[in-house]
Amino acid sequence: MKYFIVQAHHEAKSFNAALTRAAQTALPEHGHEVQVSDLYAMNFNPVSDRRNFTTVADGDYLKQQVEERHAAKHDGFAPDIQAELDKLDWCDVLVFQFPIWWFGLPAILKGWVDRVFAMGRIYGGGRWFDDGYFAGRRAMISLTTGGGRGAFSKDGISGDIHAILEPVNHGILRFNGFDVVPPFIAWAAAHVDDERREGYLRDYVERLLTIGETEPIPYPSLDDFDPKTLRLKKTD
Ligand SMILES: Cc1cc2nc3c(=O)[nH]c(=O)nc-3n(C[C@H](O)[C@H](O)[C@H](O)COP(=O)(O)OP(=O)(O)OC[C@H]3O[C@@H](n4cnc5c(N)ncnc54)[C@H](O)[C@@H]3O)c2cc1C
Repeated sequence: MKYFIVQAHHEAKSFNAALTRAAQTALPEHGHEVQVSDLYAMNFNPVSDRRNFTTVADGDYLKQQVEERHAAKHDGFAPDIQAELDKLDWCDVLVFQFPIWWFGLPAILKGWVDRVFAMGRIYGGGRWFDDGYFAGRRAMISLTTGGGRGAFSKDGISGDIHAILEPVNHGILRFNGFDVVPPFIAWAAAHVDDERREGYLRDYVERLLTIGETEPIPYPSLDDFDPKTLRLKKTD
């Protein structure tokens, strides 16, 4: 399989980087291919504006989705975005690798999503959820946390980690059609001992290697929703 890892960490010696290196070593040993976008190392620009495009639909008023639809028709994405789109088209599996920052994605990764998942190219015109662009492909979050597992449980001080990750799993990955498998989480990566961290590295590789057989997070199908109200159809 072809794995595309998008990594957001500013330190090459970080545990996030170690997880990505483990994937880059292990996956080819098992016959898989890997591409990595190391966003800080690439100096990826996360700011979404006219620099997303080489084309212009309306020079007076910047409406991102209008420009995206125009760029999609006229081969008008800037080279940095086009390169990421090419990697997305290439992959069978997309992995977001990041440290949780303020209960969410580091800004550089959120900016990558804002700029790269473009209307008319990746979504729009009826392409979403089950009918999304990436239908049949898989995605997974791999994150590290500062807090431990207990802090992110339902009665923990930070609240349920799955609720915290839902905007990414549902609102970004599932929205665009991926089958999203449960996240890999290296809890309290900076506060555990080396043995535990080595265990995380082994467990992560195992999760990547078995991703094809991992049961995705269940989401309702488009058919379950009333097409007008976009609310679940009444079953009675
Ligand atoms: C802006 C910001 C917001 C944050 N918000 C939150 C939040 O909302 N919730 C929360 O819980 N946390 C939060 N944090 C904490 C953050 O999530 C953690 O610091 C981060 O997840 C730890 O991962 P890391 O890769 O940075 O670890 P690092 O500190 O880089 O690494 C941890 C340890 O792993 C070691 N290591 C590196 N490579 C290897 C290897 N190959 N084998 C074994 N050990 C290795 C390193 O030497 C280090 O000792 C926040 C941090 C910041 C800066």
